[in-house]
Amino acid sequence: MLEWIIIGGGIQGMTMAAFLLKSGKTTVDQLAIVDRNEEPLARWKHCTEVISMPYLRSPSVHHLDVNPFSLQKYVEKADWKNNFYGQYKRPSLKSFNEHCIHLADDLSIKQAWVQGKSSLPAKRDRAGKSNCKTSDGLRDKNL
Ligand SMILES: Cc1cc2nc3c(=O)[nH]c(=O)nc-3n(C[C@H](O)[C@H](O)[C@H](O)COP(=O)(O)OP(=O)(O)OC[C@H]3O[C@@H](n4cnc5c(N)ncnc54)[C@H](O)[C@@H]3O)c2cc1C
Repeated sequence: MLEWIIIGGGIQGMTMAAFLLKSGKTTVDQLAIVDRNEEPLARWKHCTEVISMPYLRSPSVHHLDVNPFSLQKYVEKADWKNNFYGQYKRPSLKSFNEHCIHLADDLSIKQAWVQGKSSLPAKRDRAGKSNCKTSDGLRDKNL
């Protein structure tokens, strides 16, 4: 049985995965991220690419990693110029996405990735814990 199943490997699901792994609450072999798509953030990438958005609307401290300055540090290390826009330091979409890929690789997210559509859990207790089972057959303690 797995410790955790996250349904959806979008912005929210990946942020949760990074938190669980980096805080030592679970390990990648005890985690499954179930998503319809082949890779993380597919929907985010599609939605932002169709409108050719150069910079995010949110500031540089909003990203998937635990440390708020992780994206800024990543960009400084890569030595990119003109990457942030305006007083809130809105990051370029390119740097935000590359930072996401870097983080996912660093955490070996591919090992936890399960491509498919998950339905709601068939059974769970009031606390939302213990012995959940998705209708796809994955079992976990936390969903
Ligand atoms: C054009 C645009 C620009 C934006 N710019 C910003 C910005 O600059 N800053 C900001 O903070 N926010 C921005 N947002 C908002 C941001 O995209 C959303 O808040 C964020 O994507 C929500 O994350 P999510 O993980 O809930 O959903 P999503 O990113 O949509 O991810 C959900 C994932 O879960 C999968 N999924 C869902 N249900 C199931 C299931 N049952 N089984 C399997 N897989 C499933 C989906 O296929 C998808 O891959 C923007 C949104 C748009 C459209």
